[in-house]
Amino acid sequence: TSEEIIEMAQIALAKAKKEKRHKPYIFYSNAIREEAVSTLQVELEMLEAVENDEFIVYYQPFIELGSEGIVGMEALLRRRKKSGELMGPGTFISTLERMNLIDKVSMRVLEIVCEQIRYWIDHGYKVVPVSVNLSAVQFKNINLAQQIKQVLEHYEVPPKYIVLEITESAVMEDVRSAQIIIDELKEYGFAIAIDDFGTGYASIGYLKKFMFDHLKIDISFIREIGKNMQDRSLVEAIISIAKTLNLKTIAEGIENEEQLYIMSALGCEMGQGFFWGHPVSGTEIEDKYFKIC
Ligand code: C2E
Ligand code: MG
Ligand code: MG
Repeated sequence: TSEEIIEMAQIALAKAKKEKRHKPYIFYSNAIREEAVSTLQVELEMLEAVENDEFIVYYQPFIELGSEGIVGMEALLRRRKKSGELMGPGTFISTLERMNLIDKVSMRVLEIVCEQIRYWIDHGYKVVPVSVNLSAVQFKNINLAQQIKQVLEHYEVPPKYIVLEITESAVMEDVRSAQIIIDELKEYGFAIAIDDFGTGYASIGYLKKFMFDHLKIDISFIREIGKNMQDRSLVEAIISIAKTLNLKTIAEGIENEEQLYIMSALGCEMGQGFFWGHPVSGTEIEDKYFKIC
């Protein structure tokens, strides 16, 4: 029917608009329809998740490579469906970004983390800084630093307990506004980590300009560090640059003893990975790592 043809044309048009490289036309196909339906499904699910407050936070420790002690942890977003099933952020962060829901969800993550830290402080736990991921999209909000500060003030959590993780793309998209936001965050007393380092396009000059505190070496350099000499040399160079700029290094994705041994020998200061444990709930992390003072 004509209605069906128009609907097909609309689906193809939406797909053409979404393509990064401009395309003058695109043909409708069943594959495009299926993609459109599944995108819509994730979008509807995200609205439901926000509405029902289904987001929770898991924690994964940062281990000091010399002492093997816990020196920090990363807060990682999860969605717990009504059925109890857990969904990892890889399946929905980009949808939240596209739907302009990422600000709201990220602030929720920060609230959950601050509530958890407040609980740990009040119960005499030896609290370590918690790293919270920020999306590149949030850097379009010039009030970001102020909003983050307000959440901490609400829970009476000192900024020394929060590290903000940002990716190279967050900085690169709009360097000037990123600079303003980062300067403000640093002024408030937050530490800043550059996440997934080596996967984006940040120049070494930016590492100096932004005065980050931590540099997280991306998992892609660590994965084969035991046999790939090029990766090893690159990591060595990254660690040397980080040391020159006074940045603490964290190796992402340490899964075995060999990776741990090499990273430690190369002078990396901290590690994070399945070797020590997968991300777990706040209670589990408490049981495993915290001792009452
Ligand atoms: P990320 O910030 O680089 O976080 C580290 C990711 O590596 C986590 O995946 C973690 O589970 C995984 N990982 C840790 N150790 C290992 C290991 O030994 N091997 C392997 N293969 N993976 C390991 P996760 O939790 O699925 O998070 C994926 C990404 O989603 C994060 O990467 C981050 O970019 C984003 N994300 C997570 N939580 C948030 C959030 O609250 N806000 C925003 N904007 N993004 C978030
Ligand atoms: Mg991170
Ligand atoms: Mg990372």
